[in-house]
Amino acid sequence: MAVEPIRSCIACRTSRPKGMLVRVYAGPDGRLGIDLSGRVGRGVYVCPRRACLEQAVKRNELARCLKVALAPMTAEALETLILEAVSRKIAALLGLARRARKVASGAEAVDSAVKRHAARLILSATDASAGTAEKLRIIAVQAGIPWLQHMGKEELGAALGTTPRACIAVTDPSFAGAVISTLNKIPVERDARETAWSDRRVKSGAESRKVWG
Ligand SMILES: [Zn+2]
Repeated sequence: MAVEPIRSCIACRTSRPKGMLVRVYAGPDGRLGIDLSGRVGRGVYVCPRRACLEQAVKRNELARCLKVALAPMTAEALETLILEAVSRKIAALLGLARRARKVASGAEAVDSAVKRHAARLILSATDASAGTAEKLRIIAVQAGIPWLQHMGKEELGAALGTTPRACIAVTDPSFAGAVISTLNKIPVERDARETAWSDRRVKSGAESRKVWG
């Protein structure tokens, strides 16, 4: 099995497998982009932690490391770019999973996928009711699979080419792993990081990385 290459964060200088870092690149027009597949333009890596984003934009460090002229930017603007890239990639993954028939959507289909032991993760819409979200979380805990929240009902439905959906279940381990490692690129607070990190690593699992890198 290939070993994932190690890269270091431009802010804290910690070395990590590159899948745990966010790659920021400068396009030919000098605009920043977030590259979640590791192939575009000249890039640098940063940890998905707010403290590292702050450090990366301070004194225009990002521009210096990328060797491009960039207007000063805030950590919030960088975080927004990351969130947008994450949402685009999740939508693309869900679209692929749907075409491969590896996703169940809507409460009944999700429930049935869990009962068949086919569900590998449950994703709730961020605007699902608190009761629905809690019910899904408990179902996921009992099934021993990750429960995550991302995107609104409209966006989840659109990604699947259907009407708004409050929840979906991914039924393939590779797609589930790719969804989890993509969501792990969302910046977290510094004080929660070590716990967040170790449970993220457990959830991601090696099997997804073999396929999706
Ligand atoms: Zn860092």
